[in-house]
Amino acid sequence: MDGIQPLKTIDPFAQRIHIAYFSMEIALRPEMHTYSGGLGVLAGDTARSCADLEIPVVFVTLVSRSGYLKQEIDANGRQVDHPDPWEPGGWTEPLGAMITVPIEGREVWVRPWLMPLTCPLGHCIPILLLDTDLEQNSPEDRKITDALYGGDAEYRLKQEIVLGIGGVRLLQALGFSIHTYHMNEGHAALLGLQLLRQRRHHPEDVRPGEPVFDPAQVREMCVFTTHTPVSAASDLFAYDVVEKVLGDYIDIGELKTIGGTEALNMTRLALNLSGYVNGVAERHAETAHRMYPGYQVRAITNGVHVQTWTHRAFARLYQSAFPHWAHEPEVLSLGDQLKDEAVWSAHQEAKRDLLYLVKKVSGVEMNADVPLFGFARRMTGYKRPDLLFTDMERLVAIARKQPFQLVFAGKAHPRDEQGKNLIAELNGYARQLANSIPMVFLPNYDIRMAAVLVAGADVWLNTPLPPMEASGTSGMKAAFNGVLNLSVLDGWWVEACVEGVTGWAIGDDDAFGTGAGHADLLYEKLDQMVLPLYYKDRGRWIWMMKEGISKIGAYFNSQRMMRRYATEAYLR
Ligand SMILES: *Cc1c(COP(=O)(O)O)cnc(C)c1O
Repeated sequence: MDGIQPLKTIDPFAQRIHIAYFSMEIALRPEMHTYSGGLGVLAGDTARSCADLEIPVVFVTLVSRSGYLKQEIDANGRQVDHPDPWEPGGWTEPLGAMITVPIEGREVWVRPWLMPLTCPLGHCIPILLLDTDLEQNSPEDRKITDALYGGDAEYRLKQEIVLGIGGVRLLQALGFSIHTYHMNEGHAALLGLQLLRQRRHHPEDVRPGEPVFDPAQVREMCVFTTHTPVSAASDLFAYDVVEKVLGDYIDIGELKTIGGTEALNMTRLALNLSGYVNGVAERHAETAHRMYPGYQVRAITNGVHVQTWTHRAFARLYQSAFPHWAHEPEVLSLGDQLKDEAVWSAHQEAKRDLLYLVKKVSGVEMNADVPLFGFARRMTGYKRPDLLFTDMERLVAIARKQPFQLVFAGKAHPRDEQGKNLIAELNGYARQLANSIPMVFLPNYDIRMAAVLVAGADVWLNTPLPPMEASGTSGMKAAFNGVLNLSVLDGWWVEACVEGVTGWAIGDDDAFGTGAGHADLLYEKLDQMVLPLYYKDRGRWIWMMKEGISKIGAYFNSQRMMRRYATEAYLR
């Protein structure tokens, strides 16, 4: 760290920016494979809104050179995993600064790439992507920032050291003086340990040039957003792994008092080191509070970035009716004033784009006049992508009277066998239904495909098992495009659903039920409400589209979300 001069390119940022947002993943653009799903998309939308609103935040993440996962579907309908590499040089510039982090007793070098993210109005915020692929490091250490969510627990912990400890050291080396550190999920919690290590009463732990903080000061500086609705899903490390990888960086006995006695629980660590903690929807904050009694968990409900997720046909419509909609999406509350014909024709344009994609990728020709249901998100057990197929006879009987078509997409984590089996199952249903319900599974879901899907469907389906869906954001993206949500009441939908107005609920609000009756209720709603409305009362359907745009669009956007983070979490 000694003697490193802040670089010309980062200098103006370092002078001005005092808030840092740390995230293991971030979705910035389709060519940058630095994200896996919803968490990364949220981080990306957060960055875009910070740029729009000129909220001075520096973002810190890993470069993830091999990406997350390129998904191929084989002849048996099963997911085949491939690496998904990308070339940082195309989108970012290397910075000359380097720092080290302690890993297994070695000093591992870390260098950042800088991606300046500029919003349409010209304001720019910096994204730093940390990289260990440097000639100073051993071949093994060069791979630490390679595979997002890859490898075993040791590999993951090394990545979290680079992100949390490396990120703090790097910002200091670059000349930033950060007063607020925001941890997006527990992966970033080690940043708090680094701040703690610099505390006042262990001056011998402090390297030259590192500022010192005490525990109360650390909590003052840290904000934690949790996304985990069940403790089993927390990031956990056995203490023998922690001891092996972190060495004498921190006293393990002391770590246990703040990170959990059984195993290092990154959620608990982040909770103990943060003075402001929030969940990502009202329901999720309640669930998180129940999981971790004794901590105050506030709620800042997620939102999505409107310009990123609105189809150009709707963007044109909004631009002419509400010129400031992108900066201040609250004006979409007047969306119920839009003309029916304009809304319907914008939707048909978005639907044609989706039908074109379906044809190109799968060869299946779908029909623009038949309602299309979309379901796309991470493929994993609790999301229940198979719920719709619980009773195949009943499903086919419904479609015989009132035809519909289905588009699915989503990746399963390479080690999620249940998720992979679900994908094979869905592809099996698509074959089985070939003569009754047109259905495709589009491979390799990413943000580019998501934009086409959430705009081009007629209905966006979501069937998670409550309370597992912390928020969910794809349904918000759909609403900006006049797509109606049909969803189990969980996460954001508990707040957004006005039955028969903004969309439909599947079942009652029952956070701790078994979800057992949901398939029946889904069929009922499909057969009695959704399909009849589409076929018999187009005027009422378009009215609902506009209610969704106005009621959901005005609130579930990332401008509103970031104004809340800025005023409540950053300005404390
Ligand atoms: C929005 C988005 C998600 C999140 O979808 P949920 O329904 O909230 O789980 C995941 N992956 C991609 C590529 C997305 O764009």
